[in-house]
Amino acid sequence: MLNGMWSRRYLPAIAAVLFLVSASTSVPQADPSRYLDDVKSLSSPDMEGRGDGTRGLTRAEHLIEKRYKELGLQPAGVRGYEQSFSVITGARLKSNNHLKVEGPDSKADLKINQDFVPFSFSSLGQVAGLVVFTGYGATAEEFNYDDYAGVDVKDKIVVVLRYEPAGFAEKSGNHGLTRHSQLITKAINARNQGAKAVVVVNGKLGDGEEDLLTRFGSVSGPEDVGIVFVQVKNAVAESWFQSAGKSMKEVQDQINASTKPVSFVFPDTLHLSLHIDIETMHATVNNVLAWLPGQTDEYVIVGAHYDHLGRGNFDSLAPSQIGQIHPGADDNASGTAGVLELARLLAPQRGQLKRSILFMDFAGEELGLLGSAAWVKDPTRPLAKAVAMINMDMIGRIKDEKVYIGGVGTGSTFKSVLEQAQKDTPFKIEYSAGGYASSDHTSFVSKKIPVLFFFSGLHSDYHKPSDTWDKINAPSAARLLDLVGNVAVQVASAPEAPTFQVVAEDKPVTAGGGGGYGPYFGSIPDFGQTENGVKFSDVKPNSPAAKAGLKGGDVLVQFGDKPIKNLYDFTDALRRSKVGDVVEVKVLRDGQPVTASVKLEQRK
Ligand SMILES: [Zn+2]
Repeated sequence: MLNGMWSRRYLPAIAAVLFLVSASTSVPQADPSRYLDDVKSLSSPDMEGRGDGTRGLTRAEHLIEKRYKELGLQPAGVRGYEQSFSVITGARLKSNNHLKVEGPDSKADLKINQDFVPFSFSSLGQVAGLVVFTGYGATAEEFNYDDYAGVDVKDKIVVVLRYEPAGFAEKSGNHGLTRHSQLITKAINARNQGAKAVVVVNGKLGDGEEDLLTRFGSVSGPEDVGIVFVQVKNAVAESWFQSAGKSMKEVQDQINASTKPVSFVFPDTLHLSLHIDIETMHATVNNVLAWLPGQTDEYVIVGAHYDHLGRGNFDSLAPSQIGQIHPGADDNASGTAGVLELARLLAPQRGQLKRSILFMDFAGEELGLLGSAAWVKDPTRPLAKAVAMINMDMIGRIKDEKVYIGGVGTGSTFKSVLEQAQKDTPFKIEYSAGGYASSDHTSFVSKKIPVLFFFSGLHSDYHKPSDTWDKINAPSAARLLDLVGNVAVQVASAPEAPTFQVVAEDKPVTAGGGGGYGPYFGSIPDFGQTENGVKFSDVKPNSPAAKAGLKGGDVLVQFGDKPIKNLYDFTDALRRSKVGDVVEVKVLRDGQPVTASVKLEQRK
């Protein structure tokens, strides 16, 4: 499951509508020990945490393919069982990174990883210029606070403090940090203010806290945020403050005490020049696809992602254990083994079910639902023939027989199918109607395919090296697979296929994190597109975007006065807007610019 995007918004159990479906073909029961063996294999050290672009992921892929072959399932990829696509797996510092400081009476060439470090989302190349201190780098209209007010940063290099003014938490009515503390927010703001580089410093440290440079690659963001972005040690920046006759600590204390900006231009004897040299690493990864033929070419998809975090370089929730294998037994060896078990149980039904079954194992999920996005973009079977997509992501940690099923409102027959299927199970099921969440079924609902999502809940081992196979509740997972198999067979056998239904209160997920998405716009981003604008896979009916004439396929490139290069920019721009604002947006439609006025509304 994708970090930080899981919607906790589960609706109360949907009113029971009992609707008996004639008894369907019987399927043997799932076997807990066979299932657990697969979870063990997929999360073994040999699989290296199944990080995208690692040999471990390839080993997992081969295990899955071998199984499909043994079961006699037909290949349904582009080349055999495989469908390849390219992903960005990380970034690497190359040899030519420099930060040169010219002071009033000294020159210094700072040492990388000792005095300074670039961030992986920094722009590349050479910038040089005069230096301006812009506090916390925050422009927070909601708090009447702007570190950029009254200082000209055009083509300058800005020095900013990490985090945010102490008063923001109180003003925002909570005790956590607001989005203004996020480095990506600071980067986007500085870029939109016209600066050409950001130098961030830790500033004030907690008791006993060391002034550490951020580990390169540990903060995720877009491939290129559109501005050079580095960190320097406090001691380096302190010498610049001294050259201006100030103390960094005093300035920071003053901002915190008053929640008022204290921005200033450093003397023009201070001059920085930076050169950033980063290599973005790409890898080719594969979805694995297998086909169980039915009597027609309509089909039901049963899927799960098989990739995980590898050694946790991105998105680990145990930062001190980055470098250790994150085995991902629950996330998502549990769902992958589930697909394999269902393939085993259903393989003997070859040619007997009314509809076919397409088994799918996705790569690239942890990097942003990329495998499912790749498949819906270039489907290996006609999309129009897909009647439902059933996704399993983290089904191995059922506790107190509690199970979550999402997407129930997206297919016209799902309530009755589930009523029927859950009758003899021990589960206490929490249903939610909506089909958008932080896993692969989201890619299908955006293509108007009914989806069901099976999930056993978050836990404290989520995205940590401690997500191990011995914590998997195999007996309960096997009973859940009986339920999932029953649902798949019912949907594959029913005279009528479910029709897609829009769930009105459904909210698409957006990137960025940190609470609140701003006013309602109504576009559904295409997670496959990551740069050069935000592509809409669809636009919600009756939403502000729809009313302004925007459509699926449009690529948003401008929002008011802000250029939009990626989802981070869009999220930032939206959060800076208010309900009722009329925003001029520019999209590219079939490559041609189209402008529209969108009146933002309240999220319901
Ligand atoms: Zn995950």
